[in-house]
This record gives sequence, C-alpha cells and structure tokens, in this order.
Amino acid sequence: KKITIAIDGFSSTGKSTLAKQLAKQLGYVYVDTGAMYRAIAFFSMQNNLIKTDFFDKEGLINHLSTIRLEFKFNPDLGFAEMYLNGENVEKQIRTIEVSNFVSKVAEIPEVRTKLVQQQQEMGKNKAVVMDGRDIGTVVFPDAELKIFMTASAQTRAQRRFDELIQKGDSVTFEEVLKNVEERDYIDTHRSNSPLVIAKDAIEIDNSNLNREEQFDLVLDLVNK
Ligand code: C5P
Repeated sequence: KKITIAIDGFSSTGKSTLAKQLAKQLGYVYVDTGAMYRAIAFFSMQNNLIKTDFFDKEGLINHLSTIRLEFKFNPDLGFAEMYLNGENVEKQIRTIEVSNFVSKVAEIPEVRTKLVQQQQEMGKNKAVVMDGRDIGTVVFPDAELKIFMTASAQTRAQRRFDELIQKGDSVTFEEVLKNVEERDYIDTHRSNSPLVIAKDAIEIDNSNLNREEQFDLVLDLVNK
C-alpha cells in the first residue's frame, strides 16, 4: 500500500535525512519543501529585493509569477536537486545567508499559497514523502503518516554547524545557534501557517537517537 508521509518539525532536526532514507527504502518520491522556500529567498537576494535591513516584499510578490521551481532527479546523488528558472541552485540555497533570510520570505502569504499549491500538485496520488513545516497541517492534512521531529536547539545547531564547516563555510557556532533560534521563533510565531504539531502526528525527539535508531522506529510506523 502506498501512502503519503508528512515529516514536519523544527529546522535541523534531520527531517531531510530521514525523508531521503525512507524514500530510498520504500521507492517513494521525496520532496524537500524547504528547498522551495530557500530558492525564493535566493531569488530575492539575486534580484536585490532583500538585504540585511531591507526587504521589498511588494517587489517579490510582483515577481512571484515569473519564478519557476522544479526538482530534477540526479541519479549520481540519488535525490532531486532544486532548479530555479532552469538553473541548478542546489548549492546556492544552502548558504547561511539564505538561511538568514528564508523565514522572512516564508512569512509572506502569497509565497506560501504558491508553494503549497505546487506541493499538493507534486504529491497528488503519488507515493510521496514530503518534509517541511506545514505538510501534515496544511499541504496534506489527510496524510496517512505524520511525523513531527524535535531536538534541542543546541543539538540542532551543532549538527548544522558541522555540516557548514565540512562544506568550507566560515561560520561560528554562535552564529548558527542564533540562526536556529531565530528561525524557530519566526516559524512558530508567524500569523500565516505557523509551525504547529498536527493533532494526529507522532512526535520524535531525536536529541538522543542516532540515524539508524530513528530510521527503524519510523519504518515500523510505516509498516503498521
Ligand atoms: O527545511 P529548511 O530548514 O530547509 O527550511 C528553510 C525554511 O523554510 C524554514 O526555516 C521555514 O522558514 C521555511 N519553510 C516553511 N514551510 C515549509 C518548509 C520550509 O515555512 N514547508
């Protein structure tokens, strides 16, 4: 039986790692909805619509209809990469600058409407595992399996920091922790689709779980 799996939770809780593992094991399509919000943030930076103390929201809203987002499967990597108006932006959307702006972009109702619609389209009648913040609540409220992932801010910042350092980014741990806490705040306080746990979601705190333990736990839930 093919089902829809919604994985939501705070940033850097390992949602995408888990979602990718599941998709691979089950032969499902994986959709990283954060990548879509990141691509719009990157577009805003490229077009000088957003800077540290400036955000031309109206400008972005006016440009929205010209933004085309696609996922293309990369067989070498084993997962899909994000394309913005035909250009592969997978690397560009993972920087700390994009992480700093993305929650502001994700607050805009017009942005959410556009992306939610595209996500529903992508997951319709498909065996899909989708990760994000509002998948179990807004995008697929009828998903058969909903997972909500949490871990302490300290644990999450350490994971994100290790990833960025490994990529050669020059960030400090404090900077990353601050970004994680700021995104938590904005994501849970925005008026439009704030991050909340769906009533029927299963919460997994993975502060003290390794990848294998977590994967086995969720696979059991899928097979139930
Ligand atoms: O998952 P990721 O950390 O890449 O998401 C980046 C940001 O995009 C989140 O911090 C959140 O502000 C936004 N987002 C969202 N809704 C989603 C996925 C991501 O608001 N479904």
